[in-house]
Amino acid sequence: MNVATQVKPHRDLRSRTQKRADAAADTRPRITLSFYRYVNISNPEVFRQRLLDKWSALDCLGRIYVAKEGINAQMNVPKMYWDQFDAWVQSQTELAGIPYKIAVEEGEIPSFFKLTIKVRDKVVADGLDDATFDVTNTGDYLTAAEMNEYIDDPEAVIFDMRNNYESEVGHFENAITPDDFVTFRDELKRTPELLKIHKNKKMAIYCTGGIRCEKASAWLKHNGFKDVKHLKGGIIDYKRQVEEQGLENKFKGKNFVFDERLGERISDEIISTCHLCRQAKCDTHHHCKNQICHTLFIGCDDCLEKRRGYCSWRCEQIDKLPEKLKKRYAKYYNQYIRKRKNFNKTKLA
Ligand SMILES: [Zn+2]
Ligand SMILES: [Zn+2]
Repeated sequence: MNVATQVKPHRDLRSRTQKRADAAADTRPRITLSFYRYVNISNPEVFRQRLLDKWSALDCLGRIYVAKEGINAQMNVPKMYWDQFDAWVQSQTELAGIPYKIAVEEGEIPSFFKLTIKVRDKVVADGLDDATFDVTNTGDYLTAAEMNEYIDDPEAVIFDMRNNYESEVGHFENAITPDDFVTFRDELKRTPELLKIHKNKKMAIYCTGGIRCEKASAWLKHNGFKDVKHLKGGIIDYKRQVEEQGLENKFKGKNFVFDERLGERISDEIISTCHLCRQAKCDTHHHCKNQICHTLFIGCDDCLEKRRGYCSWRCEQIDKLPEKLKKRYAKYYNQYIRKRKNFNKTKLA
């Protein structure tokens, strides 16, 4: 028997509502952070168990992906345990010296409700066959100050490596933000063609925390792009550097983040509109209250109240049905939602 099968899966049997209630009742101040590293992890199952044992003992919450190629973590840590957490992380060979990206906003709602650590084939689903190109041939990093210079340089191309629902609420000045990419996989597939006229220009790419650009820059270079650099630590770290060094902030709006907060405000501008009324200036994301739908949408306060937290009248009606009927309709309703064109169905974890 191999080691992986001996490790018991960690199962949290509480209901979603219960997890929320428990997390909300725990009012200890927490530090929300993210980090990633491409590093060789020979046995991800065993590594996962090590993280799970330690981090659940320290009451950490979050979503962490572990793969043979590395780790990608979005999580929070009770402030009282921070020193212990940090000391432990630094003592692990795979993690020592890993740069943390600390969230700028601590919201009223906790950033996570539970601790999930999953073993995956890859730390970011990119759809690429890594054997076909040199994944270590990544682009050089740009600091926040250098990023600003690129943005001001008419010769440089700024490209947003994130999905449409992310760039919709916030992006860099002068950035190309393709509005039909819903997944990173799709974006990587089509970017070389989309950007081919810029092949010989200098290019700066960016994403939320930097991890997607590690792969994307290597991929673009493999596809013949001469001069691709990427923003180190992504938008999260850009904000920190801007504040620390008193630089001009060239990011407009919000940085979409993959936790319960759904966004960190980087500048005061609101650059998007409510998806429901298409009128109010708004950049607050919500998930439709109908669990079958759970669509991510931007909704203003008025619309949210009018629709009682649903993305549509139909979702509200379906949700009112008795449980038994709802279950029977779920499959068909799901198909209907996927075909719907008004806004993209974007499920998070
Ligand atoms: Zn509205
Ligand atoms: Zn809905």
